[in-house]
Amino acid sequence: MPSATSSNVSHMAQVSLDFIVVGGSIAGLATAYALREAGHNVLVIERTDGSSRSKGGLRSPPNMTKILSQWGLGPALAKISHKCTSFKMRNGGSGEYIGAIRMTDSFLLYLLADFLFMQHGHLHTLLYDVAKEAGARFLFNTEVTGADPIEGTVTLRGGDVVKADVIVAADGHDSIMRPLVTNEEESVDGLPGQRYLSLAFQVPTDALQEDEELASLTDPLVWYLWVGDGYIFHGNLVVVGGQDFTVNLVSKYYSPLNEGDDQWQHRALDEFQLDYSKFEPRILKLLKLAKNVAGRVYHTWPTVDSIVCENSRIVLVGEAGHPLVPGSRHSTALSIEDAQTMGRLFSHIQNKNQLPQFLNAYEEIRQPRVSATQEYEQRQFGMFSAPAGPPMIQRDAMMRAALAYEDWEHMDEDTFKMVWGNELALMGHDAGEQVDDWWTQWRSFFEGKERARQRDSIQIPVLQPASYD
Ligand SMILES: Cc1cc2nc3c(=O)[nH]c(=O)nc-3n(C[C@H](O)[C@H](O)[C@H](O)COP(=O)(O)OP(=O)(O)OC[C@H]3O[C@@H](n4cnc5c(N)ncnc54)[C@H](O)[C@@H]3O)c2cc1C
Repeated sequence: MPSATSSNVSHMAQVSLDFIVVGGSIAGLATAYALREAGHNVLVIERTDGSSRSKGGLRSPPNMTKILSQWGLGPALAKISHKCTSFKMRNGGSGEYIGAIRMTDSFLLYLLADFLFMQHGHLHTLLYDVAKEAGARFLFNTEVTGADPIEGTVTLRGGDVVKADVIVAADGHDSIMRPLVTNEEESVDGLPGQRYLSLAFQVPTDALQEDEELASLTDPLVWYLWVGDGYIFHGNLVVVGGQDFTVNLVSKYYSPLNEGDDQWQHRALDEFQLDYSKFEPRILKLLKLAKNVAGRVYHTWPTVDSIVCENSRIVLVGEAGHPLVPGSRHSTALSIEDAQTMGRLFSHIQNKNQLPQFLNAYEEIRQPRVSATQEYEQRQFGMFSAPAGPPMIQRDAMMRAALAYEDWEHMDEDTFKMVWGNELALMGHDAGEQVDDWWTQWRSFFEGKERARQRDSIQIPVLQPASYD
């Protein structure tokens, strides 16, 4: 079993709080682990039996890899992942090559961590193992049906109620906890936003090698992307735990929603009503070789204005707090950053009375980052999925010019800003450092308050007047 070999937090909290984490996937497990490391009691409530593992691909950009390494998981990570050093982009309709982005050694050195490929299920297992080893408790097959943000309780299907100091909502994209924090009625039907179909499948590497055109997709260091009319199609090799090429297609979805479409389901490819005329021959071949096809329809939620409820009882992490376009490059990384922020922040808490201020700090640190990333990802999807015709021609020309440089060292300043400006801010982010900066600013305030509180609470014995009779 992997174990964390070095501690992320320099000290433990002076008070152990009770946390309930609703949802035991990547965000919930990572947060449970980080909070346990900071000295808190954690109960994870997960509605499934917790055994399912997705074979889908997952990317760990440097900002995420850095945190997992800070948690001492570097050696375990090395066993389940491998490095990606370039992105190669084609037009999804014509198959024309647009260009490549190369992450040179100097670039990765600058970011202090690698861009990694892994399987979602492998990271899930790793985080579950370390959270459990750190002492998190788990309730599986248990669905949370509601919560009381004033009492700090969650209600379970069946009627039981569980109380905690803080409820961490890690219940994913369609979170039932989110409306309790944002105070907004959420209804998919009423939302004007866009629907997306997300499809994931694997193709055995052997099958790729047998085809002359597909054999060129077997470089393990490359992430292959096709940007098409209303969709992004991308894939990479997963060399650990089998030799599969793992693929994800995210496409705008206009058909009516049938029951179950908004849940991950394994289905035959034809049931997803794809418009095959939009795909170049390589994509069509990959679709023909697809195995383990799973898909679901997502609805975009607007950017969340608040990630902590006004009673300072419920806090959103992971997709619950940042429901991004499916397949976003930064979704999982943001979830790991949330966990790092929670853990490191709550390692400094000295008294339960400080809870509202610490949750406020969480929001202050995370909200701008999360909103900016969500908006950026939406803009990027809009640009990459430009409709056929003049918008697509213009997009390809712009990207071709930008990617002609291939690596960052030879770009002129304007091109550099266009290609790397936002990406550097995203991938160079250090979530732990943000907390350290906040604590440097506020430490004396909290420690002074705590000293005064302890002083005031000391019971000075009342002296009885002496009796001289
Ligand atoms: C089954 C599954 C497979 C996935 N596969 C991939 C993949 O291959 N590649 C990829 O990049 N991303 C994948 N994702 C998405 C990925 O996990 C997220 O994009 C991101 O990593 C952050 O996830 P999260 O933990 O916030 O939310 P999610 O991963 O959506 O997890 C939410 C968790 O909360 C649980 N839950 C929801 N409601 C309740 C409730 N009321 N009570 C109790 N528990 C509840 C769910 O069962 C789930 O375990 C997958 C997600 C799921 C659920």
